[in-house]
Amino acid sequence: MNRRQRGLAWGRLLLGLLLLVVAVMLWRTTRLRPETAPGPVVAATADAIDAARAAQHLGEAIRFRTITHQDPAEDEVAEWEQLHAWLQQRYPAAHAAMQRELIDGRSLLYTWPGRDTKQPPILLMAHQDVVPVSPGTEGDWTEPPFAGTVKDGWIWGRGSSDDKGSLVALMEAAESLAAAGFQPGRTLLFAFGHNEEVLGSGARAIAEQLKARGLRPEFVLDEGMLVIEDHPVTQGPVALIGIAEKGYATLRLTARAPGGHSSMPPPETAVAVLAQAITAITGSPFPLDYSGPAAEMMAALAPRASFTTRLAVANAWLFEPLLVNQIAATPSGAALLHTTMAPTMLEGSPKENVLPQAAIARINFRIHPRDSAAGVMARVRAAVHELPVELDWEGQPNEPSPVSSTRSPAWQVLAELAAEASGAPVAPALVLGGTDSRVMSGIAQDVYRFMPVRMRLDELGMIHGTNERLSVDNLDRMAEFYRRLIERAAG
Ligand SMILES: [Zn+2]
Repeated sequence: MNRRQRGLAWGRLLLGLLLLVVAVMLWRTTRLRPETAPGPVVAATADAIDAARAAQHLGEAIRFRTITHQDPAEDEVAEWEQLHAWLQQRYPAAHAAMQRELIDGRSLLYTWPGRDTKQPPILLMAHQDVVPVSPGTEGDWTEPPFAGTVKDGWIWGRGSSDDKGSLVALMEAAESLAAAGFQPGRTLLFAFGHNEEVLGSGARAIAEQLKARGLRPEFVLDEGMLVIEDHPVTQGPVALIGIAEKGYATLRLTARAPGGHSSMPPPETAVAVLAQAITAITGSPFPLDYSGPAAEMMAALAPRASFTTRLAVANAWLFEPLLVNQIAATPSGAALLHTTMAPTMLEGSPKENVLPQAAIARINFRIHPRDSAAGVMARVRAAVHELPVELDWEGQPNEPSPVSSTRSPAWQVLAELAAEASGAPVAPALVLGGTDSRVMSGIAQDVYRFMPVRMRLDELGMIHGTNERLSVDNLDRMAEFYRRLIERAAG
């Protein structure tokens, strides 16, 4: 073989390999087809729940101003007491069937004993408290935030979607089942924390109670994710079920200096050192990585995505950098792929002509399930290296949750019912915020975060903002979903 022939042979071999790679890629891509078309949207109004009544009930629940504050002394305890009395009065059959306990002052734990106490219980959660309305924005609301107005197919007010809608839907489901004489096969637990919005103590106290009783739920379902009608990956509706949530930690960064008059500054001031340290920390971001819940979500959605997305997801071994770039193009996408850091607060001198004796910054971290608070601290220490700054946690960091299974029987039931209720394909997801259910990871096998509420991405802003509202249709869909879930999982 001469040189030319050898070259040709190599060329053919390379071409052959290339064609083989392309063939494998295409084969993998075509395998990513939707297994079944999403089922028809179940007419939520057809069945067991009276939607108009449920909507009136949610309106009533919104009128109790169960607003939590950073300082619990500012909470108006009487509002919770009225909510509790109202629940008992509105849901008599459910209260007759379940044992009700007050925990940590204002949190509620309901136990509906199952026929078979050997089976692990299931735990359904919601929270009673709401965030305040930002002072000065009350006038921006179309309907007053605490009037609980029901109008034109909507229930208006603070807490309608976060999270009294869920609480009322759970009680509607329990009431309709109890009134029909339903008895669960396994024990059913409802946990309604009273201070979720301030990362409060209620849910943790409930978790400790359950642990002390030797109760280990097979699964927990809480708020946290919903049905996004315009999901960027498929351009259509997707029911996202949260299988993990990020951790939360705030770092306090302090630079100290002698202080003095700003007319005679030393070469380096506390503020300058602090600025260098912030730049060093934010200049060393956590690597973006295509793995964990985000990769699971992409794998679930790819069959319904464009050909290029399918091609990339099916061949992530080759296209991972491309996928990472695509997903990280938006801040919310990037947050799925790594631990984020956001400098949020700065303190220096109290006066413009006084050198500060301490300059302080706070950096808020949202820790990806693959990282830990200790790992964050180690990275920060390496980044600031020899800069003279003190590093402390502001309060106790919350570690990220474990990642729950997408193969368990509980997942199967949830995914089926979620698809049925929403008419949308189902995908696992990572929750960027925090929910009460994070404290249940230690006592439960799997923890899921989902409600079958359909919303567009541009509607999510109202949840802690102005004009929070929930459609009657969504409330009804939620109550029907919980009812079916209780029948299926605890029947
Ligand atoms: Zn909430």
